Amino acid sequence: MKPIGPIPTDYIWRDGALMLGDRPADEWATLAGDTPLFVYDLAIVRRRVERFRAAFPGISLHYAVKANPHPPLLSAMAGLVDGLDIASAGEARLALDAGVDPRRISFAGPGKRNRELELAIEAGITINVESASELDRALGLGRALGATPRLALRVNPDFELKGSGMKMGGGAKPFGIDADRVAPLIGRIEEKGGLYRGLHIFAGSQALDPEALIEAQASAVALADRISREAGVAPPHVNLGGGFGIAYFSADSPLDEVRVGEALAATLAARGPMLARTEFTIELGRWLVGEAGVYLTRIVDRKESHGETFLVVDGGLHHQLAASGNFGTVVRRNYPISLTKCGEPDRLETVSVVGCLCTPLDRLGDQVGLPPAGVGDLVAVYLAGAYGASASPARFLGQGEAKELTIDGVDIL
Ligand SMILES: *Cc1c(COP(=O)(O)O)cnc(C)c1O
Repeated sequence: MKPIGPIPTDYIWRDGALMLGDRPADEWATLAGDTPLFVYDLAIVRRRVERFRAAFPGISLHYAVKANPHPPLLSAMAGLVDGLDIASAGEARLALDAGVDPRRISFAGPGKRNRELELAIEAGITINVESASELDRALGLGRALGATPRLALRVNPDFELKGSGMKMGGGAKPFGIDADRVAPLIGRIEEKGGLYRGLHIFAGSQALDPEALIEAQASAVALADRISREAGVAPPHVNLGGGFGIAYFSADSPLDEVRVGEALAATLAARGPMLARTEFTIELGRWLVGEAGVYLTRIVDRKESHGETFLVVDGGLHHQLAASGNFGTVVRRNYPISLTKCGEPDRLETVSVVGCLCTPLDRLGDQVGLPPAGVGDLVAVYLAGAYGASASPARFLGQGEAKELTIDGVDIL
């Protein structure tokens, strides 16, 4: 039997059934009409936002749309956070449709096409500029449109977020402008008809070690101060990045965000005069929504092969690429997984939960311990609220998309 990651403590069992909001998981599957199914619980998202507010008073919170762009979830999120971070024109439309004030939307990401820059400029979305040439294109398009582009500069920091699952700063990177080349561009923005909105410093993702985040945030504040002094211009905003991780695997422990918040407060209390009036932002995706989602998939076959038991389900890596271990992980480890019924918890059997795709990559649980289960039973894969439906190859092998439900603890949205 191999270990599984920790099931988030938000999930409770009642009368032997996994509850999602106020209903057993199986009832949501029946209501949705089919499986596989993602269920996102807004009550859990609200609890994460409240935890952030408690730990980071005075810091703005942005939501990184790419973690989960499902429109009902996004509309709810729009009312909970201070801004949305997007990475494409498609996400821009979703963010605008969610009713967010364009001035609270920022657009980062390499390779922005002219029509994407135009959309952002016309809507009044802040562009986090990724290169000197992108800056010139945005300024030129602004002049052609007769509009003032709102421009922040994304910095490729000269430090990295240690221990992060995905490093996005330090060394040669396609993201942002190398730190030592940023200052001269700040003057160019207002000179050429743009509105300078500040700096964006994102060093990486999926960090669970508070010390690593504390160090990266302190380095980001110091870098923002250095660049701003060099340019002689105070930044209205500094986006310090995010990178808060969640515990996916058995050896992971949850991030102590309170410690990170205390250290950031101390760092900011000691900041220099150049940043005295700056608004600071943290942008988070998975930490806000990852634990709020469960992927429900039904067992369609149970078989034995060479002494191993396989539970074959109607879902798979086409919806949950990350849980199958094929999205940015080197060693495949088990996400938290359970049945939606308690069954006989004292009589666990070792089974592999495999998806319905005809590839050996499609494995949601490798030799996990589950109560005896058979055809028709539902399996829940946790941590499905971020980088699930939107980051998986839904067209691979023609099984189609999963359903998605956003619940409010009580109502379907
Ligand atoms: C992906 C990304 C995020 C969100 O990362 P999470 O790990 O989901 O918190 C935030 N900012 C930028 C620039 C990103 O590329």
